[in-house]
Amino acid sequence: MRKPIIVGNWKMNKLRGEANEFMEAIEAYLTGDEASTYGIAAPFTCVGNCVDRAKNLVVAAQNCHWKESGAYTGEVSVEMLEDLGVKYCIIGHSERRSMFGDTDETVNNKAKKLLDEDIIPILCIGETEAQYDAGETEKVIRDQIAGSMKDLCPHCVAKMVVAYEPIWAIGTGKSATKEIAQNCCHIVRDQIRVMYGDEAADSVRIQYGGSVKPENIKEYMACEDIDGALIGGASLKVDSFKAIIDATK
Ligand code: 13P
Repeated sequence: MRKPIIVGNWKMNKLRGEANEFMEAIEAYLTGDEASTYGIAAPFTCVGNCVDRAKNLVVAAQNCHWKESGAYTGEVSVEMLEDLGVKYCIIGHSERRSMFGDTDETVNNKAKKLLDEDIIPILCIGETEAQYDAGETEKVIRDQIAGSMKDLCPHCVAKMVVAYEPIWAIGTGKSATKEIAQNCCHIVRDQIRVMYGDEAADSVRIQYGGSVKPENIKEYMACEDIDGALIGGASLKVDSFKAIIDATK
């Protein structure tokens, strides 16, 4: 039985005071026996204080580097995240792939390093609008999973979270239909089955992301292959995050 996981990706938003207020409000709202796991992915500057305030929420970072340490100005190592008490880390978000040079190869390096250190990767994939229009979605999904999840141990894959986020649905209000989201999440699971077998494929949690909000999250969560959501805009305000919790608990 897969426990769903719903994570708010704050992207480059929130100062520490705002993050603290959010954490305190949501922690006061959670009891700990919800059917889903809830979490937030904070910018690096807020990760430590969010971890310090987290009781039932899980705290994720939004990126990491795969090297231990060294001359990598501006980067943050997995060990540094571990030192803060971080348990999850987003890797390969489409904004990082399109603006900051992340590739399937670097995302794969990050996944390996995180798994080595027992931090759960939330590995993002998804096609562009042009790829969707050209009917290339399935190929893009299979290639991204094949490249970014290469050479992992099946036991580790079982613990991972994969987020299918079609780029055309991110921040556009143009959310995928539940049929498209289910079909694409099924392709993700099938590709993992091909690579790592049934146990990994049946255990890995797959999120849908792209204009998820309190009004539509329930229909995604009802889909067989969707085990949660990665939420941008609608995760920034306490009221809307509470409404997401209400819609899914
Ligand atoms: P929106 O929910 O704002 O579309 O963002 C989705 C996303 O990129 C989450 O990682």
